[in-house]
Amino acid sequence: MRAAVLHTPGEPMTIEEVEIAAPGPGEVLVEVRASGICHSDFLASRTLPPGLLPIILGHEVAGVVLEVGPGVRRLTPGDHVVACEVSHCGHCVECISGRPARCIRTIETERQQDADSRLSLDGKAVAAFSHIGGFAERILLHPNNLAIVPKELPFDRAAVLGCAVATGAGAAINTASVRVGDTVAVFGCGGVGLSALQGAALAGARRVIAIDIQLAKLDLARRFGATDTIDASDTDAVTEVLRLTDGIGVDYAFEAAGVTSTARQAIAATRPTGTTFLIGMQSPGTILEFDVFQELMLDKKSIHSVYMGSTNPQRDIPLYAELYLQGRFNLDDLVSRHVSLDDLEEGFASFQNGSVARTVVTSFR
Ligand SMILES: [Zn+2]
Ligand SMILES: [Zn+2]
Repeated sequence: MRAAVLHTPGEPMTIEEVEIAAPGPGEVLVEVRASGICHSDFLASRTLPPGLLPIILGHEVAGVVLEVGPGVRRLTPGDHVVACEVSHCGHCVECISGRPARCIRTIETERQQDADSRLSLDGKAVAAFSHIGGFAERILLHPNNLAIVPKELPFDRAAVLGCAVATGAGAAINTASVRVGDTVAVFGCGGVGLSALQGAALAGARRVIAIDIQLAKLDLARRFGATDTIDASDTDAVTEVLRLTDGIGVDYAFEAAGVTSTARQAIAATRPTGTTFLIGMQSPGTILEFDVFQELMLDKKSIHSVYMGSTNPQRDIPLYAELYLQGRFNLDDLVSRHVSLDDLEEGFASFQNGSVARTVVTSFR
């Protein structure tokens, strides 16, 4: 199959013919129809250690099941599916407690160490980013990494459910458990931030404040349920959030830009006893400073990490799909551009300059 392979961090990926194995026990082969470009792909392309290379990036995939291996019952060829990097065994204490994103036996979803690799190039193993490796014509993965979606759902809309929507909306709905009447601020209105806004609005937040430095993104934020927008390029975002919340700050602040300065602002804009959620992917080695005495002890603020929006893929992804088909969940404005696999680097560049919501690869030949 054709796939974009990263051999050296910081250098362009190359399109190559990669061998993909037939599905073994507990594996599913999927034909990729749409594959979104996420900030973590970009970051990984610059920072992955040599031991993990070569690798196929891409982890926001929608496609069609081609073939299932022995023992796979839930999926059948022809099913439309969305891949999600939340690997989970399905039977550990976290999984049976309804928290698959905290699974402690994810190793069970991978092939055994001595088995042949799922992917190879000239006889050498190739890794799949997030166990998915979506910048390719096909993916081979564990069925628990796949959610079935209705066939009416367009593939490009479906793809963004797997990471941007799962992470952003999940952070508001699952991780924070936003409730009717809560106040929320989201710093950074890319695919994940817009989804966090939408999740908070859907959950019934009274005030949903969008913060970005680009007016185009703030216009977009209104279409995802933002009640207020702050242009942080010419206003102090923290002062403005406090002004909008009677000088108190928001119950929940979400940092979705992956930048230290906005993480600091998110903590400052969080009300005493409120929680700051760090969703945006920060670069390795990032140090974040906060006043432990004032902010944590006196103000009793919490700072919380978010892993994939605490998503339960088989429950949450079909839910978002259904809400979209009912006209109650905006996915249309999340997808702003389509590219082919050959133009992947160009897609990365446009993603990097921050001018679009989501670029999706929809042509693979
Ligand atoms: Zn992602
Ligand atoms: Zn588990």
